[in-house]
Amino acid sequence: MKILIVEDERRLARALRQILEEAGYEAETVYAGDEGLHYAGTNAYDLIVLDVMLPGMDGFSVVRALRQQMIRVPVLMLTAKSSVADKVNGLDAGADDYLTKPFDPEELLARIRCLLRRSDNAVLDEITAFDLRLTLATHHLLCGERSIQLSSREFQIMRLMMNNTGRYLSKDELLLRAWDMATEAGDNCVEAYISFLRKKLVYLKSRTVIATLRKVGYRLEERP
Ligand code: CA
Repeated sequence: MKILIVEDERRLARALRQILEEAGYEAETVYAGDEGLHYAGTNAYDLIVLDVMLPGMDGFSVVRALRQQMIRVPVLMLTAKSSVADKVNGLDAGADDYLTKPFDPEELLARIRCLLRRSDNAVLDEITAFDLRLTLATHHLLCGERSIQLSSREFQIMRLMMNNTGRYLSKDELLLRAWDMATEAGDNCVEAYISFLRKKLVYLKSRTVIATLRKVGYRLEERP
């Protein structure tokens, strides 16, 4: 999942990038409206985080120009203003959602997840790791010729692991990010889903396994 950040305040742009990268997204940053429009027109992004007040071309004009060019990527607008008129302007121009600064990082991530779920782009999209492919729209996990349907929770967990193959994900992190925060689920719930996923990997005859490091967490590894 690749996200373009268009934000002229350097500190905020850096913070946004860090938040997104820590959440497993790939992020690119540009600092002006016309630059944002150019990048969005020449690269495939899954989502754009777009500031309203920008040098060159403001955020409203950027999103309007994108829609005129039939670029349908979801756009989340950011602004310091919280007036209804601003919100309406943004949505009328073709933005998908709106967030007022200062914002809570968790709210930002929740809205991004929501937009990505809604996105038509997801129909074509899949992510890959080792010998696995995961379709984002239909939640199929594939390995070679074999394919299996994942439940919504299994999909969330697998997507997190496939986006973070380099590191272990703790049970707490999985609970926080795969269970949408308002969860009463506990550690044993994570263990149960990891066990379901392991069975599915066996069914797929995948060389990828879910490795456990005691008291640390889980990650995907490829068997030699
Ligand atoms: Ca700005």
